[in-house]
Amino acid sequence: MTNESGFKRTLVTSALPYANGYIHLGHIAGAYLPADIYVRYKRLRGDRVLYVGGSDEYGVPITLTALKEGVSPREVIDRYHAANEEAFRRLGISYDIYGRTSWDLHIDTTQSFFLRLLDGGYIHQEEMELWYSPQSDKYLPDRYVKGTCPKCGYEDANGDECERCGAQYAAKDLVQPRANIPGDTSTPILRKSRHWFLDLPKFADRLRAWLDGHPEWRTNVKGIAYGWVNDLRPRCITRDTDWGVPIPVDAPDAASKRIYVWFDAPIGYVTNTRQWGVDRLGDPHAWELWWKDSATRMIHFIGKDNIPFHAVIFPAMLMGQGDYILADHVVGNEYLNIFNRQTGQAEKGSKSRGNMISVKWAVEHLPLDAIRYYLCAIAPESKDSSFDWDDLMFRYNGELCDVVGNFVHRSLTMTVKNFDGAVPPAKALDAEDSTMLAAIPEQVDAIAESLENFRFRQALERLIDLGRKANVYFDAKQPWVTRKTDTARTGTTLHVCCQVVKALCHAMAPFLPDGAHALAEIIGTALPEGGPDGGPDGWNAAKEALPAGSPLQTPQVLFPKLDKDRITELAEMHERGEAF
Ligand SMILES: [Zn+2]
Repeated sequence: MTNESGFKRTLVTSALPYANGYIHLGHIAGAYLPADIYVRYKRLRGDRVLYVGGSDEYGVPITLTALKEGVSPREVIDRYHAANEEAFRRLGISYDIYGRTSWDLHIDTTQSFFLRLLDGGYIHQEEMELWYSPQSDKYLPDRYVKGTCPKCGYEDANGDECERCGAQYAAKDLVQPRANIPGDTSTPILRKSRHWFLDLPKFADRLRAWLDGHPEWRTNVKGIAYGWVNDLRPRCITRDTDWGVPIPVDAPDAASKRIYVWFDAPIGYVTNTRQWGVDRLGDPHAWELWWKDSATRMIHFIGKDNIPFHAVIFPAMLMGQGDYILADHVVGNEYLNIFNRQTGQAEKGSKSRGNMISVKWAVEHLPLDAIRYYLCAIAPESKDSSFDWDDLMFRYNGELCDVVGNFVHRSLTMTVKNFDGAVPPAKALDAEDSTMLAAIPEQVDAIAESLENFRFRQALERLIDLGRKANVYFDAKQPWVTRKTDTARTGTTLHVCCQVVKALCHAMAPFLPDGAHALAEIIGTALPEGGPDGGPDGWNAAKEALPAGSPLQTPQVLFPKLDKDRITELAEMHERGEAF
């Protein structure tokens, strides 16, 4: 099922969050938790896997925030980088490195990408007409200019795109432009400026062939990617700003411009891999194995808005380098909306509505495994889904606590109490015992299959399913009755139960690290966490016996239930806008 493809190692990336705001649960459900579950699964299997993430720190929104707050862009990115790195850590998102595009090393990586593309004839210069403020004496890229959308008439449209209707247009088509700079009351004028363009049409055939080679990708990703490839145009990759990577050419108009953020951001994955190699191995060339060896399998986890960059533009930039691998899978997720209890409708998370839930707030008010369980259970894989407090309590309490937690707890409690704190031996197995034991490898393999196919909701359902089967078995064997009359029978039943407990422990580890590690301690099993160098196979160890005589500790409740009043309290805080 796995490793048939001949890949020797897996490089996993999660979209770099923009260091201009706090990450929220909507982000997590899309690009981060699925990636982390996948990486933890690969590590547990003993596969060689490297997980790279970091902050995206250049671009106009950051300089605008700095301008409006009266601080430097550096202060803005330092604040959000530190906060988001900490939020990921507390949610158990287990990056091997969480880097920064403001690192000096990133200038080198980005400039080398740019120069290779320039040498290959994939970058050219064009003259454009851009808005310019006479009062501030500067060009007004992107959101520095606001005005009326030429398509729908929305009066607060950005310089090159409209948030309301989604239209993209040339800056000069904006109607009634005004500078979006505090204190600037002048009327912007059009001025000529020469910029650098990435010649995307030159990659059309190669991009199409690459996409054609991946029929297994999700339809949402392929639909958007083909839409772009069928209508490729040169894209401007520079801006009139001083916040970004300098353009590495000796031209008079290069000094006042920088490389545009969407060009440098995905290159951050490369920079961060380079930095990881230096930090971890002291080897400045270690990264090349992960980016240039065809035995490496690269997988990007992203949200829907990032699909064009990861399924079209960045692959084109990699093709233009000549010696880089391309992604083998681009896992694009839809959006997580928020269920509004007042209106009974799902709505988009937005800052102005104040309805988003920051990771920082969530980890302070909910158990880690409850957050991870629910966000995986409702992951927006093929369509939008929505976060709903009642549903969170219902799913977590009713599935994880009542099915898996309850089975583990009653099995271990009864075993510890009746068999001197050790796994009892199995005597004669009957048909029910054999069926239960046979279900373990079947179910563990089924979960693995779902994970290999990036179907995380299905994988979690299959985990719960193993718990359901185990509860049915437990109820049918009635060890609480047989223990009064038939010790051998009771021992056999609980022996079988201990095998399922062990399987659940290993199989839940990628999803629910806290619960899995607590359980591993109780039953004395090892959950190896290999990494880039691989390690022992702790996934298939789920199918190996927990031998009779293995000592067991007194079990604790792994997944404490969420209290209804507490959930109501949290939902009300959320409604008051206090969850961000
Ligand atoms: Zn519009």
